[in-house]
Amino acid sequence: MKRVALAALLLFANIASAAERAVLVRLFWLHPPAKIHVEPNPKVTERSCETCYPESVSTAFDLDAQHTRPRLILTGRARISGEGFAPFVFNGDLTVQPGDGVLLLTLKMPLDDYVAAVLAGESAGFKSDEALKAMAVAARTYAVHFGSRHKMEGFDFCDTTHCQDVRLGLESPRVRTAVAATEGEMLWYEGRPAATYYHRNCGGETEDAAALDPQLKVHYLQRHQDNYCQRDEWHTDIAKLDLANALGKYVRGPINTVRVTLRTESGRAETLLVNSRQISATDFRFSVGRSLGWDKLRSDLYEVQDRGDRVSFRGHGQGHGVGLCQSGADAMGSQGKSYREILAFYYPGTALGINAQGLRWQKLAGEQIDIVTTRPEEAQIVTPVAERALRFAADKTGWTLTGRPQIKVFPSIDIYRDSTGEPGWIAASTRGMMIRLQPVRTLQDRGVLESTLRHEFLHMVIESQARSDTPLWLSEGLVIYLSDPEHVHPAKVDTAQLDRRLKSARTEAEMRAAYRDSAAAVADAVQRVGLAAVLAWVTQGEPKS
Ligand SMILES: [Zn+2]
Ligand SMILES: [Zn+2]
Repeated sequence: MKRVALAALLLFANIASAAERAVLVRLFWLHPPAKIHVEPNPKVTERSCETCYPESVSTAFDLDAQHTRPRLILTGRARISGEGFAPFVFNGDLTVQPGDGVLLLTLKMPLDDYVAAVLAGESAGFKSDEALKAMAVAARTYAVHFGSRHKMEGFDFCDTTHCQDVRLGLESPRVRTAVAATEGEMLWYEGRPAATYYHRNCGGETEDAAALDPQLKVHYLQRHQDNYCQRDEWHTDIAKLDLANALGKYVRGPINTVRVTLRTESGRAETLLVNSRQISATDFRFSVGRSLGWDKLRSDLYEVQDRGDRVSFRGHGQGHGVGLCQSGADAMGSQGKSYREILAFYYPGTALGINAQGLRWQKLAGEQIDIVTTRPEEAQIVTPVAERALRFAADKTGWTLTGRPQIKVFPSIDIYRDSTGEPGWIAASTRGMMIRLQPVRTLQDRGVLESTLRHEFLHMVIESQARSDTPLWLSEGLVIYLSDPEHVHPAKVDTAQLDRRLKSARTEAEMRAAYRDSAAAVADAVQRVGLAAVLAWVTQGEPKS
């Protein structure tokens, strides 16, 4: 019985790691391109619908608003370029729909890839890694709190500051590290993910949430002083003629006078009087931004002076001022504050954790492996087993890891499922140097803790050596074969078909068969040319026959 359970738990581990919790992001929401150039890297599949048969494409092609089918789903990795935007590489599902002379692009991506792209858009200039981690938690919580803002339009988030600013292709390794270090962590308030607003620079004092939304009276978004803030001062002169154009919707004719008539407690403008017309500071700033550029009035924290044919604004800060101040957060981090301290300062009263109970990750160092867990006592059980499994993988392959592996042990199957997006019956998955493991007790009860870790470390060691074009059947087959060579029966298999079967398997039976055949093909190759030669295929590529 145990062998069956073990196989069911193990066989799917790696394929399913691609299926993480996903979000749908509309790219170029404001300015969709009319044409894109697609360079598969190394290839993508093309389908017209979710259930249509995918066709593989490995040469570059163009898509434009006239010539595309009603819908095209590209799956895989490709570089996208075109006029008016920076080229980017996507890895996932990109849906392309023509409409009104433009192409609507919707990218399905894992939540944490989205968070990384948001950090690239919002926090690229950060000096402090702790501040980046704080922003990763804020951006993730914000996405989950506000959820699908564009549900009616068929996607979750747009790529502008309306939702969060997304920059694909500019995610640095630093940003990725900050996102991975806080995986699954959010800020909670009364059992829900908090409304984690953030902005560039508060100018020395943050703003009350009520300034954004009168309904939103939450304790953690109250006005407070920010002595960390690198108060940026700005100054701008606007010609009254330009102002008249910008405010045409509110004021007719030439502009005579502009003054602030009401301020919030933090000193930000709330209402302005333009000639004899009252205008809210937000409407005023948006009208100016849309017509004259967003760098003119960077915030509502300013003084106004009439200078004859011009109006002069002298102000502080950038953005609405509610929640986390990025400038202050970066300064806190640079002064040695942790991301927990930064988040506690800007969102007082919230709990940081991977669930509402505020469970926290702790990292415990073993000899060769770090264990990340919410229950430190688990490290004592996992560490010796994991170090044995790592030695096993190194002995079988003759390869050693250059980095230091981490094992993240999830406290419950629910949290494992929510964080990884994987079904609860998958024991573990590996991504780079990180193994993510189901609760230790669950694996112990099934008697699969050690075999699971062997399997995952074999993946890690093999993938650390593999070339980008190493076929899936070879790496998957090797892992299964090396785990237990005695129980794999060699067989001649058409390996050219195997990768497609591994990727397109729709049922558990199809997937199992594809894995079994991969292992059989490896066993057959080992019989013919020896294990050392087969391992060399991983590092040097398969010889052309
Ligand atoms: Zn939006
Ligand atoms: Zn500030």
